[in-house]
Parts: sequence; structure tokens; C-alpha cells
Amino acid sequence: MNFISTRSPEVRVTLSDAIARGIAPDGGLYVPASFPRLAPESFVGKDSIAAVAEHLLRPFFDGDAMAAELPAICRETFNFKAPLVKLPTSGPAHVLELFHGPTAAFKDFGARFLAATMERIRSRESNKLTILVATSGDTGGAVAAAFHRRSKIEVSVLYPKGLVSPRQAQQLACWGDNISTFSVRGSFDECQRMVKEAFLDASLSKTHQLSSANSINVGRLLPQMVYYATSSLQIWRESGRNANYIIPSGNVGNAAACIFAKQCGLPIGDIVLATNANRAINEYLATGNWQPRASVATLANAMDVGNPSNMERLRTLFPNVDALRGQVGSDTVTDEQIKARIVTDLKQLDQVWCPHTAIAAEVYSRLSASRGDEPWVIVSTAHPAKFNDIVEPLIGRSIPIPDALARLLSLPKQETEIAPSLDALRRELQGRKLQA
Ligand SMILES: *Cc1c(COP(=O)(O)O)cnc(C)c1O
Repeated sequence: MNFISTRSPEVRVTLSDAIARGIAPDGGLYVPASFPRLAPESFVGKDSIAAVAEHLLRPFFDGDAMAAELPAICRETFNFKAPLVKLPTSGPAHVLELFHGPTAAFKDFGARFLAATMERIRSRESNKLTILVATSGDTGGAVAAAFHRRSKIEVSVLYPKGLVSPRQAQQLACWGDNISTFSVRGSFDECQRMVKEAFLDASLSKTHQLSSANSINVGRLLPQMVYYATSSLQIWRESGRNANYIIPSGNVGNAAACIFAKQCGLPIGDIVLATNANRAINEYLATGNWQPRASVATLANAMDVGNPSNMERLRTLFPNVDALRGQVGSDTVTDEQIKARIVTDLKQLDQVWCPHTAIAAEVYSRLSASRGDEPWVIVSTAHPAKFNDIVEPLIGRSIPIPDALARLLSLPKQETEIAPSLDALRRELQGRKLQA
């Protein structure tokens, strides 16, 4: 299978190349040149997530140098559960819990798959790769956890000092070894600018081979198809019906993976993008004009994206707005509605949502008024204990912390504070190289 650039279909590469490069030479994003059609029946006997993953992802690895490694990559990536939990509603509604990985958010799936594949791609090279990640919170922790102690790969995480929650800061800084964490005296935008400048810096390119692990890498989307496969197959086997998904969306990587899974023939019905006050997608679906915006801060901060990069992928696959409307719907939720939904659903459903998941739960409550008899799935993107500072005051009690997260919170912090400049970052990276 080939992967093509969103900006020119003549740019065709293998999966290994698409993952190693991250972004196409023409500045576009990689998408699969086509989607395989897999009948639901073909998954019979695939009883673990890893087995479903191997069957679903096999065609994308077809002809790639890594193809023989796929079973091992899947076992390494999918070694925690992604359960579909029935909700106590009158209709057949479920929550898909994607927070049982090392950093308690769905980004663990993509980061772990990327780490497993990149380590194997690197094993054929002699020099080390340095991955730079600028993070506003969740991504950096998932990437650090996934790449920790992988050979021939160093990771530098940059985050804005004082602008992430204390628990997020701890998850970014508890690693050491091949992970360097920099608390930058600046904003997230400055962290991102430093990373972009580092890629263009002549001096750094002499000493370091740099790469990125942010969500434009197609290696983060493919593994996210897998939990849509396992959950939709479960509902299809139990009821013979297509599952409808409500997905809390920011950069739209998670929802893009659901659309990919549907293209592959999985029994998926409606896909609804649930957004916070960042509404560029809702406006596009309503008006047909694509108008990126500056991002707005909300309680669901991992979805504070004004210019979602995966829209470039969706608009390439579905070039006119009507085609995209045939694939997805959307709805939007305010901070006040997030808070109210967290309070209501603790009482009504005995569920404690994180602020992102609460957005999907609110959209479900609107849809279920007229379509409550359909098999809806609320996609739960993070464990509420990650956002205890927001959720605990609303529900008036403390949230038990998952074991994996508790372990990270107990580790010593190892980070270096730096100024928001390329000079400061370059000094650190080149200094570390000399010590190594
Ligand atoms: C990243 C993130 C999202 C948004 O996912 P996208 O793929 O960017 O749309 C939603 N919820 C949580 C908890 C996240 O970390």
C-alpha cells in the first residue's frame, strides 16, 4: 500500500517512509492511497485487540519493509484494554473507555504505535534520532511514556512553564533516561515556534537528526482505527446494527481514524464530531467555507484547536463539503454545559466524565431525545483523574487515581527550565550530545 500527500497525489511513499518523515516534502500530510474493504465476518476468531489490529492494519503494511514486524508491533502497542461499557440509559448506549493506557488518555494508542514502528525503522540506521515535541498538555506525556528507554531515539519535550496542570507537568517530567523535558519560560506558541526553528537550523542539522511525533504523523492515526473496529464489531455481533460514534474533537485525528475505519468496511453508522468553543469544523459543515480561527481556551483544553490540521486530510478524501457531510455531523458545547453535564451524569448515569468526554455526553443527551433507540457510543478520551482540578470541585469528592497514573505521579521530577529561544534549546541539545 502506498501513502500519498494531500497536496499532490504523485508523491507516493511506503508506510515506513510516511512515518519516518511525518510530513510530505511538499508540506502536505500523508493519507492512504486507498482503503482496503474488510467484511465484518473476516474478523471472526480475532479475539484480542492485538489480533484485530493485525488483521485491520495488514493491508496498510503490504509491501513495506516492516510488514514482518506487524504482529510484534501490535502486541507491543495494544497491551491494555479499551472496553465498551454499557450505560444505564433506556436505549442501547455505551461508553468506549480509551483511558486505560500509561498516561490515561487515548493518545497512548497513537504514541505507542509510533514508538514501536519508529524504533524498528531506526534499527537499520547507525545514528540516533532526536524527536522534538511541543506540547500544551496531553501529547507530550503520551509520547514520552511511549518512547522511554527505546534504543537509538532521544526525545525532547517542550512545554510552557506554569501553563499546564500540576498533574500534566508531572507526567511530562517524570522520565529521565532518553527523555529530556524542558519547561519553557513562555507560551505554547513559543514552544511550537522553537521546534519549527530547530528543524530549519543549520547548526543543529549538523549534530542531530531531528524528527517529530505530533499528530500530523499518519502513524498516530492508523492504530486509532483499531478501537473503532473492536467496539463496532462487538455491537454488530450483539445486535446486528451499526454503531454511531460521538467523538470529542480538536485536531480531528481521533475522528479521522473513525472515518478511516468506516471506509474499511467496519459496521459504523453515524459519526458525530463534538467540539468545544473552537468551532471551525462546525462552521465549515454548516456553511461550506473553511475558515481557520485563533484557538479559544476552554475547560476541555486538549481540544483547544482553532485550525485542526487533520481537516486537510478530510478535505482531500472528501473534496466537497457535501461529501464530508455524508460522512460526519457535528455539534458544539460550551464550558457551562460541560460543567452541568458532569454534575448531571454523575447523578443519572453514575459516571464521572473528564471535561472532554463530557462534551460527547452532552451531545449524546441531545441526540437521544429523538434517536435514543440507536446504538450510540460516547468516546471517552481521558480519565477524569487527569483533570481533577476541574472535575472534583463540581462533583464534591475526590477521584480515585488509576494505578498507572499514580505510579507516574510518585516519580521524581527531572526537567530543565529554559528561555523561550532557539539558542537556549540548541545549547541544551548540543550540550547533551557532548556528554553522551
Ligand atoms: C487530544 C485530545 C482530544 C482531541 O483529539 P483530536 O484527535 O485532536 O481531535 C480529546 N480529548 C482528549 C483528552 C485529548 O487528549
